Amino acid sequence: MNRSIHISILLCLSFAAISQQPRAYTHALSLMGSAFEVTAVAADDTLAWHAVEAGIAEIQRIERMISSWDPKSETSEINRNAGISPVKVSPELFQLIFRSKKVSQLTGGAFDISFAAIDPVWRFDGSMKTLPDSAAVRASVAKIDWQKIELDVTNQTIFLKEKGMKIGFGAIGKGYVANRARAVMQEMGIKSGLVNAGGDLTCWGHPPQGGQWRIGIADPKVRDQAIAWLWATGQAIVTSGNYERFTILDGIRYSHIINPQTGYPVRGLKSVSIMCADAELADALATAVFVMGKEDGLALINQLRGVSCLLVTDTDELIASDNLPLHFYTKSSPQDSVQHDFQIGGKP
Ligand code: AMP
Ligand code: MG
Repeated sequence: MNRSIHISILLCLSFAAISQQPRAYTHALSLMGSAFEVTAVAADDTLAWHAVEAGIAEIQRIERMISSWDPKSETSEINRNAGISPVKVSPELFQLIFRSKKVSQLTGGAFDISFAAIDPVWRFDGSMKTLPDSAAVRASVAKIDWQKIELDVTNQTIFLKEKGMKIGFGAIGKGYVANRARAVMQEMGIKSGLVNAGGDLTCWGHPPQGGQWRIGIADPKVRDQAIAWLWATGQAIVTSGNYERFTILDGIRYSHIINPQTGYPVRGLKSVSIMCADAELADALATAVFVMGKEDGLALINQLRGVSCLLVTDTDELIASDNLPLHFYTKSSPQDSVQHDFQIGGKP
């Protein structure tokens, strides 16, 4: 064998070896009004690409079902018929609403998809110049009540019992789509991957370099910096932050998470990160803990097996639940310089 053939055989062999190495394929795009990243880790590039695109298609399918803005969605049909008549829905939406009510029950109504009755009152896009009229807030709050979302199991219908009621999945939908995109990719044979649904993240398997995924939790003050690091796999890590959507009136920040009892934005915490196996539950609980506040929120999480949390208070205190199972480092740690694979809560 002459020397040049020998070299080219060696090169072919080494390329074959390289292509066996798992690589991360990521598609970053805007979905559901937020920045999403869908990643598959695989040695087969074509499979990774197909799986990521299938995950994205699944997210888009669900968005068409749960969007309150799309007049053609099943959710809009339910809202249009509030106080008028029950609406027959797909089993998938029925189950999502069923689970949403379970979380309302668990959190004493802090999480409530019927919060959306307040939608016309608050705008968190900077266009509000004064506080809303308190009578308008009171009138909308009277329409918020998860117990008036009636589910008929036999007929698979949903009925909002009063005119003016409205549901919205802003606090649970991204967690649900993250779960579903992950399930679709796993069914296609993707053993490792990550879905970051606008700060609602789920990861499984390993990053290409092995080990666990390193996740940076955004610092509410400087969003592209991390306030803590988490090493995770087979976990969802979801952050609700007061910096995501807000308006400032008379020097006070009013952010997009509403106390269903009062109709006013909640104060006290800057961010809540929840870790557990299920991204949908983590999403709903992050919003609920935000509403419940430091003491009650922590007490709830400390009672739930397999669920942990990390809170940043208004005074920049970092508080972890008793059961935080993942290793995390604050910024003062020598590990601070470690590069992270993904950061959540940091994208506008
Ligand atoms: P998240 O970022 O998951 O905390 O969700 C915040 C979004 O959920 C808001 O922009 C609203 O659309 C919606 N939301 C606000 N307050 C509540 C609440 N108390 N319960 C359920 N959804 C809420
Ligand atoms: Mg949420």
